[in-house]
Amino acid sequence: MALWPFILVKNLATKESQVIIHHEKIHIRQQLEMFVLPFYIVYLSFYLYYRIKGNPHMQAYLRIPFEREAYCEESNFDYLDKRKFWAWRYYIRN
Ligand SMILES: [Zn+2]
Repeated sequence: MALWPFILVKNLATKESQVIIHHEKIHIRQQLEMFVLPFYIVYLSFYLYYRIKGNPHMQAYLRIPFEREAYCEESNFDYLDKRKFWAWRYYIRN
């Protein structure tokens, strides 16, 4: 879980944990470039939009563009070096 400026994880030792940490680092970058609070407002707005469109909780969560970007790139450990500003916008879908 990423709660700027912290990443909260249970176990740092596993490869799976490294992927989770990278996923959360992507969220930290997303939050920083949106000055943190607006990130949460936009994040929640996307979630509610997908819920109103009839998606169950997990599906709505996975459709949030911030999550799409983070899940898509979480194993690409060079990603943050090349990532474009507001790259999450390329993951917006209906
Ligand atoms: Zn996430």
